[in-house]
Amino acid sequence: MIRLILLPLLLIFAGCASPGKQTAALQPVKFAERPKNIILLIGDGMALSQVSAGIYWIGVGKTAFERFPVVGFHKSHSCDDLVTDSAAGATAFSCGQKTINNAIGVLPDNKPCTTILEDLDQRGYATGMVVTCSAPHATPASFIAHREIRAFTEEIALDYLKTPIDCFIGGGEHFFNDRPDRLNLEDTLKQRGYVIRRGTTFGRLPLDGSAPFMLFTAEREPPTASANRRYLPDATRTACHYLKKRSDKGFFLMVEGSQIDWACHANDATWLRAELVDFDRTIKQALDFAASDGETLVLVTGDHECGGLALAEGSTKQEFKPVFSCKLHTAAMVPVFAFGPKAELFTGLYDNTEIYGKMRAALEIIQTQ
Ligand code: MG
Ligand code: ZN
Repeated sequence: MIRLILLPLLLIFAGCASPGKQTAALQPVKFAERPKNIILLIGDGMALSQVSAGIYWIGVGKTAFERFPVVGFHKSHSCDDLVTDSAAGATAFSCGQKTINNAIGVLPDNKPCTTILEDLDQRGYATGMVVTCSAPHATPASFIAHREIRAFTEEIALDYLKTPIDCFIGGGEHFFNDRPDRLNLEDTLKQRGYVIRRGTTFGRLPLDGSAPFMLFTAEREPPTASANRRYLPDATRTACHYLKKRSDKGFFLMVEGSQIDWACHANDATWLRAELVDFDRTIKQALDFAASDGETLVLVTGDHECGGLALAEGSTKQEFKPVFSCKLHTAAMVPVFAFGPKAELFTGLYDNTEIYGKMRAALEIIQTQ
């Protein structure tokens, strides 16, 4: 009787186990005692169900997610709402403080908080952001801007002039060169020594680290991954090598798979699948860099869940049916994946704000704001 029950189960698990043998597990890497660099990859709207879907769509044992030795979970709620938006969610990571939904790099009383990107820039680190949205969109904005409302996009673009970020790759060029106030922020940036380029190739950038740059990949929002947008993995690898040359002190790079969230808002599983494939390739680039570098801490997380995604029973036993339960964000906890020196700090279950403190602890920056 037991054998009868076990046999089909064993067959199922034997079928699942074989791809696991192909897992691209990282070779043992000799890490430095503490990281010099941090790459924080944020999948907007990506919680456990999105990661699960990505793993099953791409193939068990074939994803970058499965290469992380350390996993934790964060509680994503904002200061006034169990369900966060991306502004409060990213501000929790950037400032280590819970704030109200819609707030960009400011506390509930509207006081600006110094972000980790700004702080590390002050300390001599090279800094960068690579995203698949426009520069003033909530997630990148929360690392460099301080505005009460995320919709103040023209003002948020102005804040890019205040912090000398070393590289930005993403969309939204019109916020810099075609503004209602007629200011040309690209001219100002050029006067400050920035190289400004547009497109999705990297050959004409100062990749030797000799100058800061902004590469605009789109006039407005970049296309979707399902419409053949492909730059995020290469841009991430390029940014890592550039930032390493840019400062001996180390670097901080924030990478966002911005449109995972948009696909979930749209309840569009085809779009979500393309975004997760793109984000997984991007994580692979970060891990490969970190594995060869040995001084880089790689973190992957989301800011919140979106779409209430369930992996329901599919038409065969080998596939699932993605079912969205809503078109908005939800309060589900979000996984945190860590690789590299001090990765172990990220085990356990904690508030989203602690990611900020753990990053600082990893870099051994004790002083708090
Ligand atoms: Mg975002
Ligand atoms: Zn959203």
